[in-house]
Amino acid sequence: MKPRDIFLAKLRRGAAPRAAVGSATSIVTSDLMDRVGIGFPEANLDSDKMAALAGAGHTELGFDNVMPLFSVWHESSAMGCKVDWGDRARMPDGHPICSSIDAPFSVPQDFLKQPGCQVPLRALRSLRNSLGREVAIIGKVFGPWTLGYHVFGVQEFLMATLLSPDRVRHVLRQLMEVTVAFARAQLDHGADALTLADHCTRDLCSPDAYRDFLAGIHRELHERIPCPLILHICWDTADRLEEIRKTGVECFHFDSKVPAAEARRLAGERLSLMGGTGNIALVRNGTPESLARDAAGKQKDGIDILGPECAVPLDAPFRNLQALAEAGKKMPG
Ligand SMILES: [Zn+2]
Repeated sequence: MKPRDIFLAKLRRGAAPRAAVGSATSIVTSDLMDRVGIGFPEANLDSDKMAALAGAGHTELGFDNVMPLFSVWHESSAMGCKVDWGDRARMPDGHPICSSIDAPFSVPQDFLKQPGCQVPLRALRSLRNSLGREVAIIGKVFGPWTLGYHVFGVQEFLMATLLSPDRVRHVLRQLMEVTVAFARAQLDHGADALTLADHCTRDLCSPDAYRDFLAGIHRELHERIPCPLILHICWDTADRLEEIRKTGVECFHFDSKVPAAEARRLAGERLSLMGGTGNIALVRNGTPESLARDAAGKQKDGIDILGPECAVPLDAPFRNLQALAEAGKKMPG
């Protein structure tokens, strides 16, 4: 089986001759940028450079998938957020569009035509052309909770969930159309499957708020986006994993704050699990031996796709990602 077939099989808990290795989020490090000769900000602004740096996830690191949307700001930039696209040692960062949840806001009609969306769309097409069906090509969209932080600012948005819940519900419905449209465009440009990232972790969104505002929206996104979805939520999600399971998404990309065995127990038998390898203790500070031990533990606990828990820190050594991929690919399917 080719890496793409192994990755896509494991995304649905299907059979494969070995474990899959990959990531739903960025695997770029400063030393990987040096090795490829392409870094931030250019890799976020030029589709050829973006595709080349993403391709290194397979050619240099040995992962079974590539994912070119390294930052969290593409569709938000296309909606009007001012974004600093980072540098060798800094991830991109952006600024809200509105200072108040009550400010009039509408999604710009032409957001898909803006560079924030066009650059990754062209990068996906170019990866499809260069890699064919050898490697899984994964796109990435953000859910409306994260887009709410980006458009209104985190503090304003979270306060509004308490003070103006109806307005928040309205805004989430507006913003989920961005998620759906960008997702469908990425599929049209060659993505095999998509990461749906939404930053509704326990410290920012209570279990009640998740059920109240978001679980239904995540379920609807899964119905309206015609491909396997990898839901990514960082930090501790143990209190909402059973809710997540009910959304119908094919895979959940989880954080090491949920122990792998517990994640499997809460996820049940149908939901595929990816990630869970700690970014600081293992991806940044680990050794080939500790990474191999981690891979064996994850495999035993029923994790389907081995890899880092979230976007890897830029100061992690890419050799550790190579060691992680090598160890993971030795695990039986
Ligand atoms: Zn994350």
